[in-house]
Amino acid sequence: MSTAVETRAFEAEVSQVLHLVTHSLYSHKEIFLRELVSNASDALDKLRFAALADPALTADDAELHIDVSFDDKARTLTIRDNGIGMSRDEVVENIGTVARSGTRKFLESMSGDARRDTQLIGQFGVGFYSAFIVADRVTLTTRKAGAAEGEGVRWESSGSGEYTLAAADVAQRGTTITLHLKEDEGEFLSGWKLRDLIKRYSDHVAFPIRMPVQKDGEPTEEWEAVNHASALWTRPKAEITDEDYQAFYKSLTHDFNDALAWTHNRVEGTQGYTLLLYVPERPPFDAVFSGRDERQGLKLYIRRVFIMDAAEQLLPSYLRFVRGVVDSDDLPLNVSRELLQDNRLVAQIRAACVKRVLDLLERLARDEPEKFRQFTQAFGNVLKEGIAEDGANRERIAKLLRFASTKGEDAGKTVSLDDYIGRMASGQEVIWYVTADSHAAAKGSPQIEGLRARDIEVLLLSDRIDEWMIGYLGEYAGRKLRNAAKGDLDLDADDADARKAAEEAAGPLLGKLKELLGERVGDVRLSHRLTESPSCIVLGEHDMALHMQRILREAGHEMPAQAPVLEINPQHPLVQRLEGEVDSAAGKDLALLLFEQAQLAAGDQLADPAAFIARVNRALLASADPDTTPASA
Ligand code: ADP
Ligand code: MG
Repeated sequence: MSTAVETRAFEAEVSQVLHLVTHSLYSHKEIFLRELVSNASDALDKLRFAALADPALTADDAELHIDVSFDDKARTLTIRDNGIGMSRDEVVENIGTVARSGTRKFLESMSGDARRDTQLIGQFGVGFYSAFIVADRVTLTTRKAGAAEGEGVRWESSGSGEYTLAAADVAQRGTTITLHLKEDEGEFLSGWKLRDLIKRYSDHVAFPIRMPVQKDGEPTEEWEAVNHASALWTRPKAEITDEDYQAFYKSLTHDFNDALAWTHNRVEGTQGYTLLLYVPERPPFDAVFSGRDERQGLKLYIRRVFIMDAAEQLLPSYLRFVRGVVDSDDLPLNVSRELLQDNRLVAQIRAACVKRVLDLLERLARDEPEKFRQFTQAFGNVLKEGIAEDGANRERIAKLLRFASTKGEDAGKTVSLDDYIGRMASGQEVIWYVTADSHAAAKGSPQIEGLRARDIEVLLLSDRIDEWMIGYLGEYAGRKLRNAAKGDLDLDADDADARKAAEEAAGPLLGKLKELLGERVGDVRLSHRLTESPSCIVLGEHDMALHMQRILREAGHEMPAQAPVLEINPQHPLVQRLEGEVDSAAGKDLALLLFEQAQLAAGDQLADPAAFIARVNRALLASADPDTTPASA
């Protein structure tokens, strides 16, 4: 067998990652142990899975474990697993190159905030390199499960640009990582310190993490497990502390923050399974930055064996923020992704996951308002997708949504649809809302002035998803939802005579406006919804809001332009002035300005901003006091 040592250069990006990790994460240097143990645990999971198809892989050495030991004379720390191991190609691929697109994103999203960045390294799949925070040389020897003793590989690097690779005799299957600790890192050559770190960060790893039994301060040949070493979700709930749940959450997700809440259930019945589902405090960075599949939060185990990440099969997309574990007693161990798609048992588990998460959210909403508020802020928009995606649970989901409203305003509070209905005046039949592309725009919508003046609450929707979501909601608890900016709005229907008289009186003005505005408008009407503003745009019941039309148009969608209806407020002084000026040049400016300001308020764009500005300036000059107006040159 060749004993040649080959020297290779890391890919440029690996060098960069190495440099960043070792320098910027120094303040959290002990995370290296968590990352290396987590890799060892993954390797054991992979072996156990591979052994399902090929039991011979583990036949000679069936007890899977991770061993941590140190040698204070040699100043080395060793982490060994008897897991799946790696072939030579796999070592090069996994350790020396940036096979994963996440790495570049990791580099881009490093923030310099060490606390945040320690979290990123786990999420982006660069955890191995954390070894170089404390080591100036790392040796990895490995032998792939099923390979012969002589087919091992020895990899070594000082973490600066290069690594060496050589064939090696490796007595046992699995991977051994030896850290040659830096001068100042002697603290890790302590059984007490290492046990403490393992307890703190890796207690819930489902395999035994063993250390040599100490006798008279010296390590012996005997090994003992220092972690709990059983899958947390299989333990009785009463024996699991909140700290246990949180530590498990962190190891599962690499989230540095605590989970917001969780639900843990064992189901026995036609089929048996265990669910442990977490709601995070905030969206994980990987959802935003990493190239990794966003939908990898839910791990499927079958009888304690990790099978695959199966969030897509076990949760609908609108619950994609949920993290956790599903452990089934009854699915076949050789289950494939395809089989999961179309399996009766899986469908039941999926429905149970949805039910448990909705139960959990309802419980938070009822009993822990502050946590629920945090949830709404982090994931409320994702949950809204469920209105469209999950018709069967629509009412339950709608109950959990929170909206800004004209009545929650002062406290900056959001309201539920139930709050709204509870406050409805007698005789009010519908739930009013308005959509806009910002909260300020929604709040300032002229279309809701009349409702506000009558003390009728209006929900202020300004998330991009709202307009789309509300289209699926339609009604809640038997009450229709109505957009205050659409369709005919007659708030004082009993005053029909007065209305008719006003319309007749305004007839000539409306006609003239229609003529002046031409094709810009579909119609000009007298408004029954305005009290303060002179004008507003009104859309048809089924038209898409103007700000949405603009967004879609900008995104390259063809949007047929419909001429909107302009409503004017006959009480407003500008409209009253217009009556006398309709035929003058100033009157024409004013007519256009009434239309253009209504467009702006509705989130639309002006066809000719320069002409608008010129009109505004003319109007300002005309109305300015001649004494204070600077003489024009
Ligand atoms: P991640 O674990 O997120 O993939 P790491 O940088 O921690 O990223 O590890 C990179 C890869 O190296 C792993 O995905 C795995 O393929 C391989 N690897 C690391 N440690 C081991 C080990 N102990 N046994 C087998 N493979 C390993
Ligand atoms: Mg890792």
